[in-house]
Amino acid sequence: MDFGQIPTPSYVIDEGQLIRNLEILKAVEEESGCRILLAQKAFSNYCEYPLIANYISGTTASGLYEARLGKEEMGKENHVFAPAFKSEDMDELVQICDHIVFNSIAQLQKYKDICLEHHIGIGLRINPECSTQGDHAIYDPCAPGSRLGVTASNLQKALAQDPTVLDGVEGLHFHTLCEQNADDLATTLAAVEEKFGTYLQQMKWLNMGGGHHITREDYDRALLIQLVKDVRKRYALEVYLEPGEAIALNAGYLVTEVMDIVDNDIQTAILDASAACHMPDVLEMPYRPPLRDSGEWGEKPYKYRLSSYTCLAGDIIGDYAFDRPLSIGDRLVFEDMAIYSMVKNNTFNGIPLPSIYRMKADGTCECIRKFGYEDFKNRLS
Ligand SMILES: *Cc1c(COP(=O)(O)O)cnc(C)c1O
Repeated sequence: MDFGQIPTPSYVIDEGQLIRNLEILKAVEEESGCRILLAQKAFSNYCEYPLIANYISGTTASGLYEARLGKEEMGKENHVFAPAFKSEDMDELVQICDHIVFNSIAQLQKYKDICLEHHIGIGLRINPECSTQGDHAIYDPCAPGSRLGVTASNLQKALAQDPTVLDGVEGLHFHTLCEQNADDLATTLAAVEEKFGTYLQQMKWLNMGGGHHITREDYDRALLIQLVKDVRKRYALEVYLEPGEAIALNAGYLVTEVMDIVDNDIQTAILDASAACHMPDVLEMPYRPPLRDSGEWGEKPYKYRLSSYTCLAGDIIGDYAFDRPLSIGDRLVFEDMAIYSMVKNNTFNGIPLPSIYRMKADGTCECIRKFGYEDFKNRLS
């Protein structure tokens, strides 16, 4: 693929890589007997939903809009979880969702009847209070005081007050991982079984959330498959996994151009893309996105700080080194840009949204969508 032909800035979805990921996930479904759903929060490029539908079981959503998108564009099994639901949204969700997962006993009690009327599979999110991620606390739903999921002690208290609280609940849901391997799932599952094992006996399904980096090269898929099979057998239930990242891992690029190079003691290349607008995880996580044909400072002779054309001083993508000096007009290609990028885009500073291209498995590219001034203006008033 010749990225030189693509106008900048543009995202390019790599369909060949997407298919490689989906083949892995389909094999996991087949070998373990679990059902895998796309967590749309990470990747909502619905031009690819018909393709994704050929490999996995459906979609999961964080609220009404994602649930609608999953229903309209994929039309397979459709689940939703949110920390809280509005009544008017619930009226619509019960029409389009198969499973609805609640975050608290109060939410469960508020909406149990309408869900039962519509034959929705009701789930309760649990919090096993088992942190397995050290370095990014903002992605740890098991951090002390976390609002996400019912703890074992709160569930016991609720049952002591009202022994029918779990009547009608057919599944438990936990989501505690982020970019993690199957060993951390094993640790988490042990905590879930220890604290919630008695309730699992009466459940039809267990949803193990996302954060499973299943399509990463070093991921221990044999262990995942074993864990799923064991749990299915031990409690006689269905297992769901809802990865976001793993579906489109390494399946996209952000193609940008060097607009200027400023030398105020540090050589800074100004790009027509922005961390704040187009790759916010770079600032939030924070992390340094992979860049094609580059290295760390010190690894290669020509050092540049890559930044953007917003006015935010801290809109810095990272420090990179190259084999040759950069020139104005050069193309730079950021990698692993399909996930948590397009779904998080914004037009801060009036910066244009990058176009979206699709690269087919044979290397040919087509433009899926271009954005313009109207997309900036229409979100404001
Ligand atoms: C974010 C999220 C996912 C997907 O997580 P990834 O890290 O992208 O795999 C799945 N389920 C829930 C409830 C989530 O909040």
